[in-house]
Amino acid sequence: MVIGAIEAGGTKFVCGLMDADSQDCAKPTLLAKTSIPTTDPKATLGAALSFLVESAESAGVAKLDYVGIGSFGPVDLRHSSPTWGCITATPKPGWKNTEVAGFFRDRLNVPVAFDTDVNAAAYGELLWGAARGLKDFVYITIGTGIGGGVFSNGSLLHGLSHPELGHIKIQREASDSFAGACPYHRDCLEGMASGPAIGKRWEARPEDLGADHEAWELEARYLAKAFAAYTFVLSPERILMGGGIGIRPGLAERVAVHVGEELGGYVPALSDASRLAGYIARPLLGQEAGLFGAAALALRVNSS
Ligand code: ZN
Repeated sequence: MVIGAIEAGGTKFVCGLMDADSQDCAKPTLLAKTSIPTTDPKATLGAALSFLVESAESAGVAKLDYVGIGSFGPVDLRHSSPTWGCITATPKPGWKNTEVAGFFRDRLNVPVAFDTDVNAAAYGELLWGAARGLKDFVYITIGTGIGGGVFSNGSLLHGLSHPELGHIKIQREASDSFAGACPYHRDCLEGMASGPAIGKRWEARPEDLGADHEAWELEARYLAKAFAAYTFVLSPERILMGGGIGIRPGLAERVAVHVGEELGGYVPALSDASRLAGYIARPLLGQEAGLFGAAALALRVNSS
């Protein structure tokens, strides 16, 4: 089957045309790929649609079988809702109440699988990455924002809408006077540990802060507080740290040490350093997690 995969991000839309075997769920073959800057909805969605149509034509594909979309949010995932497949209350200018899934479904006349960008990435890691064989895990991305997907007992956790792992309250470090950068909660995890929060606190771009800068010790401590909370509440078998900040060399190792301190020896399965080191891991699909995750959503729907 041929899948149009879209990683719909707040900064860019990464789109791919993929050839997939729906029977064995092997990693699809990427036939064509493009990256489109996220501007206004009309131009961005239109460019993504054009890519899917034109790349399918070039590949000699008469019609796509499925479109999979992992989108920035918040999004409406309730299938019974009239606004299913829409981006809802986003602070991103121009994108509030934008129909995304329906846009492609109606114009390409294909079924569309739609979920959050992090849920898509989590599903990609389950099929082809660092979560293979696991039933319970958390995928968290730390970059422009902080968001996470949760697999619980083999299924993506949706609930009322979808989990918002980046907006939990964490205990402030005594040495830290930064007010916080979340427009909704100020000093939630995202407000204290996202890329923009690091940038504002240290008045420097995160990528310019060296590995020995004190920013990273503070970052690891804040992430560990949140990860300990996820551990207590969700009991995952592994926590995957993705995103531009999350995959920084050395950060996962530091976080693992502090998660151990936060747990205080209360979780026997994570009572020693070697178990903690395997518990906090990097996604294997790396920068491809979002795009292949979008394809994974389509395969999931198609095989269920
Ligand atoms: Zn928040």
